[in-house]
Order: sequence, then C-alpha cells, then structure tokens
Amino acid sequence: MGQYYIDHYNAEIHHTNFVNDRCTILNVASKHRATLQSEREVARLCRDSGYVKCACCDGLVI
Ligand SMILES: [Zn+2]
Repeated sequence: MGQYYIDHYNAEIHHTNFVNDRCTILNVASKHRATLQSEREVARLCRDSGYVKCACCDGLVI
C-alpha cells in the first residue's frame, strides 16, 4: 500500500517512497502538508480539486 504526501500549498501530491531533493514539498511548512494512505482520496484530489502529481511520482499508478 502506498502512502502519499499532500502539499496543500502547491496542490501537489508526492509518493513518500520517491520524494527527492527536487520535491517542493520539502520546503513547505508542515501545516500545509498532510499524508494520505487512500489512493481513492488521492485520485479524488486530482479529479475534483485539480491537484497534480509531482514528477517523483511519474510512472506510478495512483
Ligand atoms: Zn515529489
């Protein structure tokens, strides 16, 4: 099961296993960050709220 970092400030989603130095979420204040384990929730954020997956998640099926 995957786990995801949600960057509510930049409306980006990162996969915790693939977060790297290029991920902007590392510079986002913790109050703007959340973690999600539900792929359904992640998909809903993308679909309904316009969140985008960070490049660190490229190739992953969310
Ligand atoms: Zn990322």
